[in-house]
Amino acid sequence: MRPVSYERARTVGQAARMSASAGAMPIAGGTNLLDLSKLEVETPSRLVDIRQIDALRGVRETTEGEVRIGALVSNAELAAHPVIRARYPLLSRAILAGASGQIRNMASTGGNLLQRTRCVQFYDTSSACNKRQPGSGCGALHGANRMNAIVGGSEHCIAVHPSDMAVAMRVLDAVVEIQGADGAVRHVPIGAFYRLPGDTPQNETVVRQGDIITAVLLPPAPPGQQFYRKVRDRASYAFALVSVGAVVAVEDGRFSTVRFGFGGIAPKPWRVEAAEASLKGRAVSREAVRDACDMALSGAIGRGDNDFKIPLAHHTLAAVLAV
Ligand SMILES: Cc1cc2nc3c(=O)[nH]c(=O)nc-3n(C[C@H](O)[C@H](O)[C@H](O)COP(=O)(O)OP(=O)(O)OC[C@H]3O[C@@H](n4cnc5c(N)ncnc54)[C@H](O)[C@@H]3O)c2cc1C
Ligand code: SF4
Repeated sequence: MRPVSYERARTVGQAARMSASAGAMPIAGGTNLLDLSKLEVETPSRLVDIRQIDALRGVRETTEGEVRIGALVSNAELAAHPVIRARYPLLSRAILAGASGQIRNMASTGGNLLQRTRCVQFYDTSSACNKRQPGSGCGALHGANRMNAIVGGSEHCIAVHPSDMAVAMRVLDAVVEIQGADGAVRHVPIGAFYRLPGDTPQNETVVRQGDIITAVLLPPAPPGQQFYRKVRDRASYAFALVSVGAVVAVEDGRFSTVRFGFGGIAPKPWRVEAAEASLKGRAVSREAVRDACDMALSGAIGRGDNDFKIPLAHHTLAAVLAV
């Protein structure tokens, strides 16, 4: 059996310093980290429990008009928060489309953004997986890949990011606040937070050893109706095959504001701003929507089991945009 030490941090600075050594990992709700540790996919030697840190709690409006969400705010609390429900219903709906009530009670905002892929070979330590063991190959490229990516992947990895919340955050242009082990705080737009796999699929985000996510900041939402549509194998308690989050406003029969992002099809929440821009000012029509879908999904490649995701992503986006 591998020895694992466990400590509680009382402040963000303490948590960051404790997490700075190789093998140390922060733990919040534990709903992903403990599962992965039991399977020896993750092998932390030191667990730094951050759940006692009050500075990571709470949802509050700032004087700049943003909403600040503490990294420890549970998925359940965030989805039910009156400000989120009133101003960012897309985020509430995305969270409620994920996991189960029990898991949402435990799962935290920071942990949700950093949850690992559900690629089956990643979870199976007897399979080749460049993300789990760099250089070992990718068992999904020519193996079971029904849940895997159709855009954004590489010949080294075609995993998808499984978070529903992250799709909503991406559409809402959230900013992730991170404190490093040296005490420095940086703000990373969520569009720059996730990395594409390229030839280093083990590097999934800009988070470094010793970094603690402290909060997520939401700017005021753009005008328009907000949507989150998730297509999955069961009505609940299943990860997305394809999901679409969107904010859409129509004036005089023409699109005025359009933002949309996909989940379940790429290694990160997939947003193509040029496709959104192509709709601005166009009359709402099947042709306009089809053109935007084509642009958003250009270059999509199926790898066998996941071929169905290409038409499914088109249809799901078209259904959302048929406002
Ligand atoms: C059965 C099941 C079904 C699920 N279905 C869905 C679903 O449909 N949609 C969906 O989006 N999610 C789903 N999830 C995933 C779930 O939402 C995540 O497991 C959860 O959000 C992770 O949060 P956590 O606080 O438990 O993270 P943890 O497991 O504690 O941590 C996850 C990772 O984040 C790191 N971490 C945590 N907090 C911080 C921080 N503040 N700073 C730096 N690092 C940090 C940890 O070191 C670890 O690497 C499901 C999970 C399960 C078990
Ligand atoms: S797709 Fe990525 S996570 Fe899945 S087996 Fe290949 S390298 Fe591993």
